[in-house]
Amino acid sequence: MHEYHIHDVMGFVAKILPSSAVDGPGNRSVVFLQGCDFDCKYCHNPETRKSCSACGLCVSHCPAGALKLSDGQILWDRSRCTDCGTCISRCPHSSSPKVQQLSVSEVLERLKRYIPFIRGLTVSGGECGLQAAFLTGLVRGAQERYQLGTLIDTNGSTDYSALPDLVAHAEGFMLDVKAWNETEHKALTGASNRMVLKNLDFLAGMGKLYEVRTVVVGGQFNAEETVREVSRVLAARGSQARYKIIAFRPQGVRPQFQTLPQPENQKLQQLADLARSIGVKEVLVV
Ligand code: SF4
Ligand code: SF4
Repeated sequence: MHEYHIHDVMGFVAKILPSSAVDGPGNRSVVFLQGCDFDCKYCHNPETRKSCSACGLCVSHCPAGALKLSDGQILWDRSRCTDCGTCISRCPHSSSPKVQQLSVSEVLERLKRYIPFIRGLTVSGGECGLQAAFLTGLVRGAQERYQLGTLIDTNGSTDYSALPDLVAHAEGFMLDVKAWNETEHKALTGASNRMVLKNLDFLAGMGKLYEVRTVVVGGQFNAEETVREVSRVLAARGSQARYKIIAFRPQGVRPQFQTLPQPENQKLQQLADLARSIGVKEVLVV
């Protein structure tokens, strides 16, 4: 009988980025998983939200002939694709025809040639926590095969306290707290933030929180309250996590949300001062 192994677990992968300097400390490869349970107004990767339904609408628009519809499935020829983005911009379902179903060992094999040049791995999305078994396999596989630490970039909708194997093996978590108030969070993302706040407290208490992020966008939620309450949790838990306060930028956002107001720098600096005054050691404004 075939023995179950974490390296056999399959996952939906949106993209593998060989090297990034902005997804955690040092140069890191980034694996983006497909699928997200939030619908954030300011989402910069809306094509990573939903599964491709193989409707075929994008196929004829590919200028490189890299897409085919065959037996109700989309076939994507990686070697032909020029990454022009046309297929994604043509998809009416917030998806991509380039999503691949890969096993943990296939992803690890694709990362092999980048290992000499990277300091770690980051798994992002979409929302990577939705594919918990695959995520755990990647984290453990990167550690066992390459002695590589993994950071998990998450919206916090998965209960990480129920995934001790993942938490134990992950180098850390990068958690978005989009709004403290639940009603505002629902309006901004279409989802409750109860699990997000539970994870904030849990991961901070476990010493596994590497970074918390809040995107500041005018008039959508109470940014002062969010920064103040998140900072209080970090301080109360003695967390060393840094707090990244991010200005909303319209690039890549769906057209109907591109006119959301951008915050003034002075406002961002006031929020950063607030976090520092509560005891957050490292605060970044970007
Ligand atoms: S990004 Fe999409 S449209 Fe562009 S070449 Fe690749 S498959 Fe074709
Ligand atoms: S990516 Fe979008 S347009 Fe292309 S086949 Fe899939 S669902 Fe249809």
